[in-house]
Amino acid sequence: MNVLDLARAEIRALTPYSSARMEASGGQVLLNANESPWSPAEGAGEGLNRYPDPQPAALLRQLAALYDVAPEQVLVGRGSDEAIDLLVRAFCRAGEDAILISPPTFGMYAVAASIQGAAVLQAPLTDDFGLDADALLAAVTPAVKLVFVCTPNNPSGDCVPLAMLDRLATALRGRALLVVDEAYLEFAGSASASTLLAAHDHVAVLRTLSKAYALAGARVGVLLAAASVIGLLRRILAPYPLPAGSVASALAATSPDAVATAHERIGLLCVERERLRAALARLEDVVAILPSAANFLCVRWRDAAPVYAGLLRAGIVVRDVSRYRGLAGCLRISVGTPEENRALLDALARRQESTA
Ligand code: PMP
Repeated sequence: MNVLDLARAEIRALTPYSSARMEASGGQVLLNANESPWSPAEGAGEGLNRYPDPQPAALLRQLAALYDVAPEQVLVGRGSDEAIDLLVRAFCRAGEDAILISPPTFGMYAVAASIQGAAVLQAPLTDDFGLDADALLAAVTPAVKLVFVCTPNNPSGDCVPLAMLDRLATALRGRALLVVDEAYLEFAGSASASTLLAAHDHVAVLRTLSKAYALAGARVGVLLAAASVIGLLRRILAPYPLPAGSVASALAATSPDAVATAHERIGLLCVERERLRAALARLEDVVAILPSAANFLCVRWRDAAPVYAGLLRAGIVVRDVSRYRGLAGCLRISVGTPEENRALLDALARRQESTA
């Protein structure tokens, strides 16, 4: 069975929109896209009168090298959020198909499915926030077209071993696409599920420049998958998904020098994460700190609400994740600069003294 047999038949049959920039490239006198012939007003961005390349070849090549895949296996979009949405729209028929997730996990999988009218089936993480591969596979019904696995998982933080992902991929062949979200993988330092692509055309890997490459504001997300899956998604991709400025930022942020800087910062961040973990563990109000290989810690408090409010009064914003399944009393804290982390710990120490 071909992975495209899992996709919606109407998307496979669709005649995609053909943009002016796709149909013709090169030339000096561009009269094919109804653009303004003049650059916008001074200061608004020289050259932005032209539509951008939908999938710039130079960026695809650079990202393919970064993630160690072929350029045909790369799709770039507006954050990995867009790739999640494209997958759901291409593979799930409204009112018929489903996705499968392991809560507590990143919220956009379920939101994208609900927008599409696809059901959301669940196989919760274990009590210690590991993926339950047996429960996940047992929950796969014929309606399930996409199985989302997030590693390291947001908001809990732990990784799924590559051997478990391999086992899932093998078991899901011909049944569903395994989507591995590696938004935080750089902080874990472990091998990517993209290594499974050679043997499995029904594996898709989500990467992003928003975290380790510090480019959240540019909105650049990457999907790594079989060339056939990338081709399918390009059919439903918006005509010009990548603003020119974001493409330039993505090229600069993933140049060899920039990658070296990113790696230095990842190293520093991981040291800070462990320092923060040790300091938080000494606080009386902290009940548990979940295992995390990401750039955040999920911390369970005796009473989270006053901690959240107290931090806010000190100008420090953390994420209240207590509404997530199994995370009652938990706040998710992103690891900041050493100064920011010190400010957090100082505020928590002051709070502990005042309530003692
Ligand atoms: N996946 C996970 C697990 C995330 O936590 C996030 C952002 N918080 C995303 C995907 C989306 O990231 P982006 O759209 O910025 O690439």
